[in-house]
Formats: sequence, C-alpha cells, structure tokens
Amino acid sequence: MTTPVLIVTGGSRGIGAATCALAAERGFDVVVNYRSNRQAADEVVSRVEASGRRGLAVQADASIESDVAGLFQAVFDRFERLDGLVNNAGIVDVPSPLKDISAERMMRMMTVNVVGPMLCAREAITHMSTDARAGGSIVNVSSGASHAAGRGGADTYVDYGASKGAIDTLTEGLARELAPSGIRVNAVRPGVIDTEIHASGGQPDKPDQAPAKIPLGRVGRPNDVAEAILYLLEAPFTTGALLDVDGGV
Ligand code: NAP
Repeated sequence: MTTPVLIVTGGSRGIGAATCALAAERGFDVVVNYRSNRQAADEVVSRVEASGRRGLAVQADASIESDVAGLFQAVFDRFERLDGLVNNAGIVDVPSPLKDISAERMMRMMTVNVVGPMLCAREAITHMSTDARAGGSIVNVSSGASHAAGRGGADTYVDYGASKGAIDTLTEGLARELAPSGIRVNAVRPGVIDTEIHASGGQPDKPDQAPAKIPLGRVGRPNDVAEAILYLLEAPFTTGALLDVDGGV
C-alpha cells in the first residue's frame, strides 16, 4: 500500500511538532517545515523516523512565494506525491489596542497568518490528486480568536483575530471550490494551548492563567489539537468544518 505524505508548516515546535509526531504514528510520511530552528525540526524528524516513517525537514518561510515553491518542489522531488497539508505556521504579537498597532505589524500578521496559508494551499492543490476518490486533505490552523477577538479586554489583539477570521472564511470557501475535485478543506480553532507562542507575544504566563476560564479546567496541550487535526485529515465526508478545540470556551 502507498504511504500518504503530509506537509506541516511550522512543524518544528508546538502544535505543528505534535501533529508531525502523531501523523507518523498514524502512518504518514511527514515533511517538517520550519523557518529558523533547524535543530528543533531535526528532533521532530527523529520522532517521525522512530515511528517507522520517513521524515524530511525543509527550511522555508511559509509566507514567501519563492520559499513555498521551493518547499513543495523539495517534497515532490523526495516523495513524488502529496496527500495532506496542515497550514499551521502562524504568529502573534503583544496585546495592543488597534490605535497602537503599526501598519508594518498589520502587514506582517496578515502576510504570515493569511497569505502564507493561501500560497501553501495553492501549491498543494497543484500537487494533490484531483481524483474525487483519492483526493487530498488540507487542515488550516485557525484560532478561537477568530470569533472571540476582543473578549479578553486588555489582553487581546484584533489584528491576530482578524487574520484567523480570514482563515475561517478561506476554509469554508475553498472547501466548496475544491469539493468537486475531491480535495477536502477543514480547520481547527484552538483555544489556549501550552506552547512557546505566548512568550513570543509577551505573555509567557498565559497558559498558567488560562484554566480558570476554561470549562474543562485545564489548558490545552499540543497533542489535543494534533488529535483534532488528524481526525479532519482523514474524515472522508467532512469538508468546510471549523472544529473548536478549546476545552469548552
Ligand atoms: P509556536 O510554538 O510559536 O510554533 C510556531 C511554529 O511555526 C514554529 O515551528 C516556527 O518555526 C513556525 N513558523 C512561524 N512562522 C513561520 C513561517 N513564516 N514560516 C514557516 N514556519 C514558521 O506556535 P503554536 O502555538 O504551536 O501555534 C501554531 C499555530 O496554532 C499558529 O497558527 C497559531 O496561531 C495557532 N494557535 C495557537 C494557539 C495557542 O494557544 N498556542 C491558539 C490558537 C491558535 P521556527 O521555530 O523555525 O521559527
């Protein structure tokens, strides 16, 4: 039987790394895309290989068109097929009211969180099977912020929420556009998950403070999201779904 091949953008750390490891356990060969941290990517490849699957680390900024083209070419050169894409690479910034957010920050947020996933999806479509029986599967990593931006009072950033709202819209629209070709498109919307992204947004303690506001009483773990992503990757009759993974918020 042919082994399916999966690309995870931003697969070197956090939710992406957990997704790579779980996908390998479920039988995927896995491409671990990363932007800067080669060592972290190599460690994830080792986890993939420990599950008996093939792994490949590829450096590319998933928001730069030429890098994305190079990423997909490297994948096709090595594996000669593509079955799944997880558009996971994303950034936050420090909490800020809109009046204090620079145009440069707005552009960066939209470029990495919205343009990048569109570039990757466009490239994936050209490499995936368009046989309606075989097809392919794209899972976008959105956020609870797509529908709850601003609810955290001073702790929020509407530019990030708006970028993830665009991902929800992309998911629903692209799912309809690609359904006739058998390619499914879905999204997960994580709540607060314990990763390093919060430190990069100046809130290293956010995962410790989150449980009080989460009905299930604990912060999310990267593997909680990875489980949902793997479900959507393989769910044959589900497309255009936005799956909340937030402990009941
Ligand atoms: P993280 O721990 O900060 O990891 C981010 C990963 O993305 C790293 O592997 C990083 O690679 C990579 N990356 C960042 N920018 C990139 C780019 N331009 N091109 C390629 N790779 C890039 O983040 P995370 O918490 O796992 O978040 C993953 C996704 O989940 C994001 O889309 C985020 O918005 C979303 N999300 C997270 C949470 C949460 O609470 N953690 C909640 C909702 C949604 P390098 O290390 O090489 O730079």
